[in-house]
Amino acid sequence: MAPNLIMLGPPGAGKGTQAERFARARGIPRVSTGDILREALHAGTDTGLRVKAVMERGELVGDEVMIGIVRERLDQPDARKGFVLEGFPRTVAQATALDVIVAGRPPLIIVDIVVPESELVRRLSHRLICADCGTTATPGTDAAPVSCTRCGGRLVQRADDTDAVVLERLGVYRRDTKPLVEYYRPRPTFCSIDGAQAPDRVTADIASAVEGAIRRGFRATEGQTR
Ligand SMILES: [Zn+2]
Repeated sequence: MAPNLIMLGPPGAGKGTQAERFARARGIPRVSTGDILREALHAGTDTGLRVKAVMERGELVGDEVMIGIVRERLDQPDARKGFVLEGFPRTVAQATALDVIVAGRPPLIIVDIVVPESELVRRLSHRLICADCGTTATPGTDAAPVSCTRCGGRLVQRADDTDAVVLERLGVYRRDTKPLVEYYRPRPTFCSIDGAQAPDRVTADIASAVEGAIRRGFRATEGQTR
């Protein structure tokens, strides 16, 4: 059974890398709200321009816009067989909306990647992103990468990764997203992962945690129908 997975964690926790790896290993789509928004920015649509101003202030795009984007994407046939959702939900309001969107599907599995704040600040202030396709350069390699591993594009510091904006983003995360973790924590399919480890170690931990969560989620569903 392909899982319906949510990847949670603060900016800089490695959600994007881990979501990509998990989705590829399972042959299911990675649904990144960041990618969807960046495509809108690139296309220069009205939504894209509004979103751009909000993101450059280090703020988050409103619930209604995000929920609409996610509902539309998860209703597509490829995502009906499982998905890895990244960058959503970010608030309890979004999480309750997501529960409605996926009603009747196998239980959501929640992976929460935990990293100390000091480590996040260190990672974020060094993060590079491709100017062409938006891929984040993988941190933790010896030599600083010079070009995008996906498209060969030029790497630049993210517009929203200056020190002041980094601290603002972590503050927004604490305020809005910590309650979200508490919302999901009581579920048998909630998994907490140590994200301060090397990326490969994190990948392995996620794979085994998800197997456990699938078994627990299946038993919980059985319990409800009996
Ligand atoms: Zn690129």
